[in-house]
Amino acid sequence: MAVDTFLLLALAMCRLIVTVGLTVVPTELLHVELAGQLSVDTSEVEAASVDFGMLSKGEPPLAVVHPVSAEDVAQVVKAAYDGGFTVSARGHGHSINGQALMKERSRGRRGVVIEMVKGHGGDGGGPPPPLVSEKGKYVDVWGGELWIEVLRATLEHGLAPMSWTDYLYLSVGGTLSNAGISGQTFNYGPQISNVLELDVVTGKGEVLTCSEDGNSELFHGVLGGLGQFGIITRARIALQPAPHRVRWIRVLYSNFSTFCKDQEFLISLQGKHASQRFDYVEGFVIVDEGLINNWRSSFFSPSNPVKITSLNAHGDVLYCLEITKDYHQGNADSIDEEIEALLKKLDFIQTSVFTTDVPYVDFLDRVHKAELKLRSKGLWDVPHPWLNLFVPKSRIKDFDKGVFKGILGNSTSGPILIYPMNKHKWDHRSSAVTPEEEMFYLVAFLRSALDTEALEYLTKQNRQILRFCQDSEIKVKQYMPHYTTQQEWMDHFGDKWTHFQALKMQFDPRRILATGQQIFQFDEPYTDDMICSKTANSDLEGQQWKHIK
Ligand code: FAD
Repeated sequence: MAVDTFLLLALAMCRLIVTVGLTVVPTELLHVELAGQLSVDTSEVEAASVDFGMLSKGEPPLAVVHPVSAEDVAQVVKAAYDGGFTVSARGHGHSINGQALMKERSRGRRGVVIEMVKGHGGDGGGPPPPLVSEKGKYVDVWGGELWIEVLRATLEHGLAPMSWTDYLYLSVGGTLSNAGISGQTFNYGPQISNVLELDVVTGKGEVLTCSEDGNSELFHGVLGGLGQFGIITRARIALQPAPHRVRWIRVLYSNFSTFCKDQEFLISLQGKHASQRFDYVEGFVIVDEGLINNWRSSFFSPSNPVKITSLNAHGDVLYCLEITKDYHQGNADSIDEEIEALLKKLDFIQTSVFTTDVPYVDFLDRVHKAELKLRSKGLWDVPHPWLNLFVPKSRIKDFDKGVFKGILGNSTSGPILIYPMNKHKWDHRSSAVTPEEEMFYLVAFLRSALDTEALEYLTKQNRQILRFCQDSEIKVKQYMPHYTTQQEWMDHFGDKWTHFQALKMQFDPRRILATGQQIFQFDEPYTDDMICSKTANSDLEGQQWKHIK
């Protein structure tokens, strides 16, 4: 009998401590009665040890759990809480630096991965499908639901969420643990600003419903909380009527100041009537000599490539503003006029207007098309040394000079996105961290490394960029942050750190959740009796870790 089959049989029938080679499935886990599945299949365990970044391997988990309900998740977390092993919720594994992987073995703990993304329903069927309330204008979705499925389900009712990511094959729980940003963020805020309610399994295995009005501390903490306080099993997401089509426009700039002035002007139109603003504002930097097409979005047809040289740019850095206007049958007649009026206020290179018109779904799902192309060439599953930074508006020109026109040289190995956002659209009570200024830019270096040499080069360049910011006192914040020391995390969270740490103590006192983020690590190995001590009337801020001997 194959080892895995033996294990599964043992798990299902005997509930014994199962030891095969070095794999020991914790006793507490064996007592869990799941409606979903638990697997120790080697290929599943291997798959749960890598992520999109492919920069490092995680520890192979002891088992991979496929839950079908919040109760399944709660039982596993409770078993981990009692048994001293760790739990990593894994969305679609599209992190870069092992955030959804296990990273604790060296500290004497191993753990299980909970695969939140659907597809492996047990006897009880899969997790619940999206449930749309047309009247309430919201959808309730499973935490592991992919955004593409959220879109498909809501469109059946003529509705859609307001705020997106550029790529929709990401899980709801995964993006809400970060922020979820795209070109709509200036108008609606990040995805975490558009959530009405959550069900969360805390690090103690309790299932809590939370919102602005109830368990609000958990609600705000979990949003942007990097998976530290609980596992999101249900999110209630606000909806609005969905447009039918999208007019998608790109214009070019050779002057960075003008490019920024126009982007900042466009996002200042947030809150205006839809006819007086664009619906999406992004942009990218063109350092390479190549085409302005890139893998992120196939905008131009291959038969009509746009050469930078044709724009007489003399090899200088160019900046591309990307904007869209949504429309439906009711306002199709006025769309051209509205766009013309807005474009007149911008100062781009007049010969560089590129326009296309696509169905709403095709626009939102644009990156997936590029993914399929790259996959077919074997260029998707390669290391991705990405770096995502929020740069304060007051220093973006210094960043341009030092990085785009300096450190990068003329080869970037992938798209570089740049677009501004406004802090007041981010709820300051969430755990997400942004620079102090009201306006800041996302700068995303989305690189692919095709060989070891390229990986080393790009990793070194990322370090150079961070060092440049530090030396020039440009107070950037990392988006989807990656740090390895607690001091760096403290600096990252700044004045949110004390509260963040206190929430950890309250909701995940045994530090069993999302260890791949490497936020709460201590020099000493974890022991079962390491618990949080809370004095009766101390507020969250006053708590400290305590070892009970
Ligand atoms: P995972 O990588 O699986 O998990 C990320 C973290 O969230 C882990 O710590 C994990 O433990 C935790 N987690 C996962 N599920 C849950 C849950 N249910 N409850 C609590 N914690 C959970 N981001 C943007 O904001 N905008 C973009 O436009 C964008 N585009 C992207 C395009 C591509 C091609 C890729 C690869 C990534 C992109 N991202 C973007 C980044 C993406 O949002 C994050 O990497 C996100 O974490 C990925 O979601 P995931 O489901 O794969 O999460």
